[in-house]
Amino acid sequence: MNKKFFFLIFMFFFNFLSFSQDKKYAKKIIKKLSSKEFLGRGYSHNADKIASNFIKKELEKISLQKFDTSFFQNFDISINNFPGKMTVEIDDKKLIPAVNYLIDGISKSCKGEFEIVLLNKLILQNQKLFDEFKKKNFSEKVILIDTVGVSNKETLQILETLIYFNTFKTPAYIEVYDKDLIFSPSMKEGNSTIIKVKRENISLHSKKILIDVENQFLQEYETRNIAAFVQGKTDKFLVFSAHYDHIGEMGENVYFPGANDNASGVAMILDIAKYFANLKEKPNYSIVFLFFSAEEIGLIGSKYFCENPLFEMRNIECLINLDMVGSGEKGITIVNGKVFDEEFNKFTEINGNKNYLKKIKARDKAANSDHYFFYKNNVKSFFIYTLGNYKEYHNIYDMSEELPLNEYENLFKLLIDYSNWELKK
Ligand SMILES: [Zn+2]
Repeated sequence: MNKKFFFLIFMFFFNFLSFSQDKKYAKKIIKKLSSKEFLGRGYSHNADKIASNFIKKELEKISLQKFDTSFFQNFDISINNFPGKMTVEIDDKKLIPAVNYLIDGISKSCKGEFEIVLLNKLILQNQKLFDEFKKKNFSEKVILIDTVGVSNKETLQILETLIYFNTFKTPAYIEVYDKDLIFSPSMKEGNSTIIKVKRENISLHSKKILIDVENQFLQEYETRNIAAFVQGKTDKFLVFSAHYDHIGEMGENVYFPGANDNASGVAMILDIAKYFANLKEKPNYSIVFLFFSAEEIGLIGSKYFCENPLFEMRNIECLINLDMVGSGEKGITIVNGKVFDEEFNKFTEINGNKNYLKKIKARDKAANSDHYFFYKNNVKSFFIYTLGNYKEYHNIYDMSEELPLNEYENLFKLLIDYSNWELKK
C-alpha cells in the first residue's frame, strides 16, 4: 500500500471517527456520573455542584460557548435530604436501607424504640372501628399500614391525607408494599417518618421497631442549570436538553446512581455537542445544550429556565429533551409526537429509511420531563425515552454496569439526521 493511499484511508477513518457518535465516551460519562463520588446527584454534600462542575469541565473540553460569563444559571430550591442516620430494626432484625425498605421523601427525623400497631382492612373498612382507631394516642407508637383488600378508593385517599398531615400524631408509619419501591425526593418536610417496606421483608405480627432516621431540610438552597452552545449562522436555535440531577442519598451509606435516569441523557447530549462542535462549517442555527437541575423534585430547573430564558424562546425552532435513553431494543417513545404530526412523521420516515430503531411510538403531551414548560411556552418540543427490558428506576440498581446502551448508536444517528432536517428549514 503506498503512503498516499494509506493517508487517504487514514483521513477517511479519522473523519468518520471524529464526526460520528462516540459510545465509549458516553459510557465513560455515565460511569462517572453514576459513581459514588457524585452521591446520586442530589443536594446533600453539595452533590449537584460536584455533578455540574464535572459537566462544565466537559463543555470546556469540547470548547462550547457560554451565554453569559458562566455556564451556570443559579436558582433556589427547598429540599428535604437524607445524608445522615438511617437505621430501622423491626423485632431486632435490622432492615437494609434501599434494599428492604425505602423512606418517603417528606420524612422527618425520628429516633427511638416504639410499639407497632397494625392498621389493616378489618379496621379501614369498618367506619366505627376506624373512628375509634383515630382517637387513640399514637405518640409512642408506630402504625403499620396494610391496605391490601381495601377496595374503596375514597378510604384510601382519606388515609393518604391522614398520613400526609400526620393526623395520628405518630412518630412514624410503616407502609406495606406489594409493588416495587421507588424513592422520590421532596421539596417539603413532613411531620413524621414514613417507611415503605416490601411485604416479604416484614411480618404483620411485628411487635416493636427501633428507628434512627435523620433528615436535613434545606430552604433557599442554591442549585444551577447549565447552558452552552455552538454558534450558528442565523439567530434561530435548535436545543437539546437533559436533566443531570437525580434523587441523591438515603442515609450515610446509600446513594442512588441514576445511570439511566438521567446520566444516559446527559452523556448523549454531550456526545451530540461534540459532534456539532467538530463540524467544519457552522450549522444553520445555533445548537444549544441545556443540563437542568431539580427535575426530579418537579421540573423546577426547566421551569426556572423558561421563566428566565438566556435567549429568545421564540427563536427556538425545536427542543429535544432526552431522559432515560439507556436501552432501546424495543424502540423509543416520543412525548408530544401526537401533538406535532409533521415532525413525528419525519422521525418515522428517517427511521424507516435508515432502519435505525425497531419502533417509534408517539405519545400525547405530558408533564413528565423537562420539555414540558417549553411546550407550555409554545416551543415545539419533544421528550424522547428508550423502550427495552431495562426496568431499574429510582432505586439503587440503576447502575452504569447494568445499563445496556444497546441502541445508543442508532438513536444518536436518528437525532443527528432529524437535526439536519430541522437545520435545513
Ligand atoms: Zn429523569
